[in-house]
Amino acid sequence: MKAKPQLELIYLDMTLKMPFKWNTGEPLGEFFRELKANEKIYANQCPTCGRNYCPPANICTRDHSRCNEKDKWVAVGPKGTLLTFFICEQSFLIPTTGEMLEVPFSVGLVMLDGAPVVLQHCLQETDVEKIKPGMRVEAVFKPKEERKGNIFDIIHFKTIKE
Ligand SMILES: [Zn+2]
Repeated sequence: MKAKPQLELIYLDMTLKMPFKWNTGEPLGEFFRELKANEKIYANQCPTCGRNYCPPANICTRDHSRCNEKDKWVAVGPKGTLLTFFICEQSFLIPTTGEMLEVPFSVGLVMLDGAPVVLQHCLQETDVEKIKPGMRVEAVFKPKEERKGNIFDIIHFKTIKE
């Protein structure tokens, strides 16, 4: 049997550009439309077990029920209570843009007013001494002309005194 000839490997040094669109599904699409048009944050509730989701869910992760009943939607926020947070001080490459992440930034879990539901989002405050679980925060929206119908229509949650 004849040995296969050694093949030379050819490499292409290139960056692929792969734009794509992702279908949000009806609940998430409606959630983003309301953020963009009306600065409204909505949650929905599982019709079977009553668990709340923000952003709204198609399917309950607990019992797999469909959560698309519009009468189970409730406006929440824009104020809420911070449950916990983290601060990132180490930058890293953002794979989708090729840019380095600006640091420090902080992310919190906010229990929104209006329903027992938590939204994870950026906090304006990045000083660890000034962030305390239990403090009150409020969503800050981009100006209407800059909103694009995604979660970053909320810039961050700012600390408020009540
Ligand atoms: Zn459920």
